[in-house]
Amino acid sequence: MNELLRQIPPVHELQKQAAIVAIRKKHKVTEKLWTQWIQQAAASVRQDILNGEQIQADKFTDIITRKVKQAAELWERPMLHKVINATGTVLHTNLGRARLSEKAIARVSEVAGNYSNLEYDVEKGKRGSRHTILEERLKHITGAEAAMVVNNNAGAVYLVLRALAKGKKVIVSRGELVEIGGSFRVSKVMEESDAVLTEVGTTNKTHLFDYEEAIDEHAAMIMKVHTSNFYMEGFTESQPSSSLVPLAKENHLIFYEDLGSGSIVDYQSRHIGKEPVVSDVLATGADIVSFSGDKLLGGPQAGIIAGKKKYIDVLKKHQLARVLRVDKMTLAALESTLLEYDREDLSEGNSVYRDIIKTAEEINTITEVFVRDLGSLQKLNVETQVHPSKVGGGTMPKVELPSCGIRVTSPEMAAHEIEKFLRMYHPAIIGRFVDHAYFLDFRTVGETEIEILKQAMQELDNYMS
Ligand SMILES: *Cc1c(COP(=O)(O)O)cnc(C)c1O
Repeated sequence: MNELLRQIPPVHELQKQAAIVAIRKKHKVTEKLWTQWIQQAAASVRQDILNGEQIQADKFTDIITRKVKQAAELWERPMLHKVINATGTVLHTNLGRARLSEKAIARVSEVAGNYSNLEYDVEKGKRGSRHTILEERLKHITGAEAAMVVNNNAGAVYLVLRALAKGKKVIVSRGELVEIGGSFRVSKVMEESDAVLTEVGTTNKTHLFDYEEAIDEHAAMIMKVHTSNFYMEGFTESQPSSSLVPLAKENHLIFYEDLGSGSIVDYQSRHIGKEPVVSDVLATGADIVSFSGDKLLGGPQAGIIAGKKKYIDVLKKHQLARVLRVDKMTLAALESTLLEYDREDLSEGNSVYRDIIKTAEEINTITEVFVRDLGSLQKLNVETQVHPSKVGGGTMPKVELPSCGIRVTSPEMAAHEIEKFLRMYHPAIIGRFVDHAYFLDFRTVGETEIEILKQAMQELDNYMS
């Protein structure tokens, strides 16, 4: 064995091998990284021999070359990459929430690859502010007096509380102290902001008098949190903004509503959920609202704060506004997203909207054609199936959108193995289990992704045959 180990070519010899040199040329990497790949490849051959594998000495160089090639390919492969969302959940937090429109992507690309007027007022020829660059557009779609953008909605909550209620009481209904996505708890963010959380009511019921009783000279704010990711049924009561706004006003308190998703579109009038519309909440007289950029809005990750100018001005000037500021790419994508809301047909420029309003019939037509085009397979059964999908992203938890997809089964392969094959496919295809079978919901599958799914089905079939 020792004799065999001694025959592994030394690294400086391997570095002279034409095939190994070619790998470096192809990927244009530093000598340092290339050398690391070679060292690791040689070490792994050494380990294989120590593990008792029978390898002939004249094969060493070939094996090492192959391993170096694999290392190079793995290195080139992005860690953050596209996946096909066939879960049917439109706003899937694990899968990056909203997809940007082609136009938004083009705007990001232009702004990212060039100098821009991010903090320069071209008309006046002097310094401008990134906090005001989208303000007019935000005011336009929300109806607010003033608005600004921060990193995300969690950041928005933190900034609002810290800047406007530090050391003071913030009154919140116990039924609204939600946890979102396992990591964001309104109560924890409040603690970090040094605002004094004052919980009122019980888990299921909060009356207006519960708020009234909590108001004293230490109170600064009444906060309402949109309980976007769960739904309480039965013996419940919560107070709408329309009753809390006058109460706050009478007592000279700020009324702030964390809307979570923040819909610009009235989905309720389309019989989809009961999500409040941002402009409606502001029209009740709310002083401040905040919501995410990448939930129902359909844009990039961002936190949008809108409301009364006197409060927004305080927020803009706060040091945390600098900490939580967004970059030019976010602003470019957000601007494009906002602009699309005034087009005749929002569905062209907003894939969240488009995916939510798709009817089961529309989706069914696509899956029927898909199954037909797929033709006959050897071992795989692909059938259309009707099944509801979700909006997701902690939005409209009760809403089930009638949808359609394909059920992928095989007598030769368990559902979890099918799941794994598709998950390990390039690009990864993520579906879900429905009645113990693997199901791909086509609501969230893009037009250009259909061919990829077809190819994957054929490869999965071949893999078993
Ligand atoms: C999603 C959500 C948040 C967090 O928003 P991010 O943009 O993910 O930071 C905060 N509050 C509510 C009510 C939410 O639904």
